[in-house]
Amino acid sequence: MTEFTIPLNDIPAEGREFSFAEQALWQDRWNAFGLGFAPGRDIQAVFTVLPQGDEAALVRGSISGSVSIPCDRCAEPYDFEVQTDFDVFEEANGGEEVLDGEEVRIITKDGQLHLDMGAILWEEFALALPVKPLCAEECGGLCAECGKPSQSCECNPEQEEGDPRLAVLRNLKIK
Ligand SMILES: [Zn+2]
Ligand SMILES: [Zn+2]
Repeated sequence: MTEFTIPLNDIPAEGREFSFAEQALWQDRWNAFGLGFAPGRDIQAVFTVLPQGDEAALVRGSISGSVSIPCDRCAEPYDFEVQTDFDVFEEANGGEEVLDGEEVRIITKDGQLHLDMGAILWEEFALALPVKPLCAEECGGLCAECGKPSQSCECNPEQEEGDPRLAVLRNLKIK
């Protein structure tokens, strides 16, 4: 898993801006979670770290790019635009990994406090993903006749549209 940590004591009190474009950070994680994603337009993260005393920091920035993700209805991959802004406060917790039920993103590494930017960026990326990814709002899912996405098959989609049994199937959520 590609890690990305920043030593906190390297950052001046007035803050520092970073840009991060290593695609492996995202790809390692979506592969590890078996999400079936594929690279789209390169994902870029730009952010500013503002130290808040010695053991905390504000991190503000944005993530943009695109990723190819499978449609929830027809399983065909489509390009999803990622564009998200974030503004988070992180603090160390005396070496503990959890604070108030949340994972601590300032960790001790080689005896120094580091901001775990890999974890922060991944979380913000994951939050930007659609809850129910659809290749198109009107995606009809898979054709009951031929098993292909119904937009691209030669069967009779007009009839399928009106079939109440299929309407029920469309609302089933696969967990
Ligand atoms: Zn679809
Ligand atoms: Zn068909």
